[in-house]
Amino acid sequence: MRRISILGATGSIGQNTLDLIRRAPGEFEVVALTGGRNIAQLAADAREMRAEIAVTADPARLGELRSALAGSDVRAAAGEAALIEAARLPADWIMSAIVGAAGLAPGMAALEQGTTLALANKESLVAAGPLMLETAARHGARILPVDSEHSAIFQALVGEDASAIDRVVITASGGAFRDRPLSDLAHVTVAEASRHPNWDMGQRITIDSASMFNKALEIIEAKEFFGLEPAQIEVLVHPQSTVHALVGFVDGAMMAHVGPPDMRHAIGYALNWPERRALPVERLDLAALGRLDFSHPDPARYPALGLARQVMAAGGHAGAVFNAAKERALDHFIAGRAGFAQMSDLVARALEEMDKRADSGPISLESVARWDHLTRQHVDRLIAA
Ligand code: NAD
Ligand code: MG
Repeated sequence: MRRISILGATGSIGQNTLDLIRRAPGEFEVVALTGGRNIAQLAADAREMRAEIAVTADPARLGELRSALAGSDVRAAAGEAALIEAARLPADWIMSAIVGAAGLAPGMAALEQGTTLALANKESLVAAGPLMLETAARHGARILPVDSEHSAIFQALVGEDASAIDRVVITASGGAFRDRPLSDLAHVTVAEASRHPNWDMGQRITIDSASMFNKALEIIEAKEFFGLEPAQIEVLVHPQSTVHALVGFVDGAMMAHVGPPDMRHAIGYALNWPERRALPVERLDLAALGRLDFSHPDPARYPALGLARQVMAAGGHAGAVFNAAKERALDHFIAGRAGFAQMSDLVARALEEMDKRADSGPISLESVARWDHLTRQHVDRLIAA
């Protein structure tokens, strides 16, 4: 039996991962499940999976978790240190599906045990890509992409040499406001931004899809993960979300990954890798679909994409600043303190502020945490001003 843990088990990716685990009875032994505030879900899943431990990120909810697990063999724990301890428990495969920079330290702890890390938490690679890759290499750990576009690229590269890559094309649905007049974007609501035309995901990544901050993170994620030059990475708007990514090779051929918008494909690929096994995803009827459309993203509609290019050119801690500013701007948008279009201004200003301070020294967990903290404070000051 393979021992597995899921960090962020109660979220959209976590629940899809559990769905696949349920369908393979007797194949997996669940070690740790972690969650945030949804204690009922965390406890129910931990009981059902007979997990060794269930951890809530929120220390104030430890009592609630203990009561919910009473009478079972599942241990309960809470807080940041407990999350990291959970990630250190020996496991063969660990899903990193916490949302945001909070996923970095547990993901790093998982890599330090030399395991296979299925990486949905793109934010950690954006904030600390070189550190994660170096840690994985040092401990003999493997990172498998779970983001659908990166899983698509990874699959297109099976049997290929990295030197044969000419370019990579990542597709974007265009999000909730693809067809809205630009002048409306200052006034759209959180509820509207939280409805994705094609994918069913957590609220934060859904709003990031509408602003294309998600795609901005993904360009940086692709650069880090596949060691690409920024100029090799393109984004195309593809409203059908059927082609997830394409790899263009030096001989002019392009390999496209085509599939329904169902995260269980990318999760399942990482779970079964290096094998390919049957998965419960819809079989596409291309004739019924009829057409696939592609277009260039409008830079005025999606300023986040330009900011990602700036971040890649700057290097160092720019990724950590970019991600933290984006997360904080999103908090303010969700709380009604910032408009939708204002988010990219806040992030741009946070990057400008960083330029004024000298970015020095190698990337460590501490340095990333420091830049993350400074940036969130700066965005808060901009909002308060
Ligand atoms: P979600 O909001 O549905 O779930 C997030 C999980 O993280 C939950 O278990 C939550 O309890 C936990 N969490 C939240 N804040 C935390 C904190 N401070 N400390 C510890 N745990 C915390 O999010 P999601 O949509 O499942 O996304 C998870 C990750 O996967 C994100 O990095 C996202 O970008 C990435 N991703 C998601 C999808 C998708 O389809 N949902 C696709 C590609 C990539
Ligand atoms: Mg994606």
